[in-house]
Amino acid sequence: LQGTRTFSSLVQSKAFINGNWINASSNKTFDVGNPANGSVVGSVPNMDVNDAALAVQAAKNAFEQSEWSKFTAKERSSLLKKWFSLIDKNVNEISSIMSAESGKPINEARGEVAYGNAFIEWFAEEARRIYGDIIPSPAKDREIIVMKQPLGVAALITPWNFPLAMITRKAGAALAAGCTIVIKPAEDTPLTALALVKLAEEAGFPEGVINIVTTNNAAPIGELFCKSPDVKGISFTGSTEVGKWLFRNSSDGIKRISLELGGNAPFIVFNTANLEKAVDAAIASKFRNCGQTCVSANRFFLQHQIHDKFIDLLKQRVESLKVGDGSQPDVQIGPLINNMQFNKVSGYVEDARSKGAEILFGGNPLEKLGKLFYSPTIISNVPSNAKLYTEEVFGPVVSIVKFKTEEEVILAANNSRRGLAGYFFSENIQQVFRVARLLEVGMVGVNEGLISAAEAPFGGVKESGIGREGSHHGIDEYVEIKYICMGNL
Ligand code: ADP
Repeated sequence: LQGTRTFSSLVQSKAFINGNWINASSNKTFDVGNPANGSVVGSVPNMDVNDAALAVQAAKNAFEQSEWSKFTAKERSSLLKKWFSLIDKNVNEISSIMSAESGKPINEARGEVAYGNAFIEWFAEEARRIYGDIIPSPAKDREIIVMKQPLGVAALITPWNFPLAMITRKAGAALAAGCTIVIKPAEDTPLTALALVKLAEEAGFPEGVINIVTTNNAAPIGELFCKSPDVKGISFTGSTEVGKWLFRNSSDGIKRISLELGGNAPFIVFNTANLEKAVDAAIASKFRNCGQTCVSANRFFLQHQIHDKFIDLLKQRVESLKVGDGSQPDVQIGPLINNMQFNKVSGYVEDARSKGAEILFGGNPLEKLGKLFYSPTIISNVPSNAKLYTEEVFGPVVSIVKFKTEEEVILAANNSRRGLAGYFFSENIQQVFRVARLLEVGMVGVNEGLISAAEAPFGGVKESGIGREGSHHGIDEYVEIKYICMGNL
């Protein structure tokens, strides 16, 4: 996808509803840009609520009437395996599309395809293990049987920061459980999503089982998903604000909802830590995807004895990070995704600067590279009223706070309404258990900065979300438990 682009066979310009590649009913389209240089990567249908209603209807028919409802778990598993294998064969093409529309460095994009595809493989395996129970009954003439049944139509709304993995993590589980789906990908990254669906079509899912609706006006479609009784579940990954809106709007129908929202991850380095390992993890956790991940370390708490040393080591590493167009193989940090993100990151840095924080590295845009590039940045003495402290920056900025005691840092780390991931570094076993228990988050990295895996449950506490994705728990979001009482035996 470099220079004069030859579009790979996977770049689609239509959406997919009921087994057909179609335009928006209004015939409107919107362009997808490359954040590294503003060039147009592709153009996709700008669908509205009428198109989305057709997709919901198709998914409903497929769930209720088509052969899908009669598929055995093993048949669903086989289809998922075929999809997995097709994605695997097209890693390079999908990564190029992803890198072009999201700015993600190409090596990271390859990593995401492998990581994202692991969810399809995992849920292909889990499909055959959605067990019920037979529970000993209190009455002699009764038997208590419990089975798990698919919800029905699930609407999957996904963000741009992991254009593939956020879809597969939901779609793999939903399809394994026997649901049918309508995907609404982010407006910044619909091409990766369409490529994924193209491969699902080739894998042979029956028509209507997988539908995708592209739009750059999500709210009316989100409202339809919330209000339509035909949509039995919504799974959303994105901002806390939109997550709350969806939660409120779907409350009337008591709809199943799972939400993966923003975090404000603490990254605590205690005096006993192995600093080399902690710095490696800091780089991995903070700078992956230019800091645009919801589990990125957001507030670095450094204990007083190692504070200066850690900063020295970190600075050496940050200075050598290569920023540029993600399609170049040696680039480690790409552009921010769009203007809104860019303004947010630079605004938060200015806010911290004006409140007395000290910029140790970066703290400026890199205009020479392009409009959306921002320097990797290290800021110390960040006060607790700075936006960098209270909000999720979603950018390449390390915000540092010095602390003295374990009690003090636990209070500070938990002083947030969000609780997605948290990280800490300590070689003291008692401290490891104490702190792991006390952090108010859904996921803890102990001496580790990258913790996601298809096998592990991903999710948050407090305002970071509801439900878990990945792992065997991920299936639970897409099934209902039915209790059958066999009486008068
Ligand atoms: P971010 O852009 O910070 O990831 P958003 O929450 O805005 O977070 O976007 C995540 C996903 O939610 C995208 O697919 C976006 O189109 C979608 N979205 C935004 N607003 C709504 C809404 N009101 N209803 C449904 N989906 C929405």
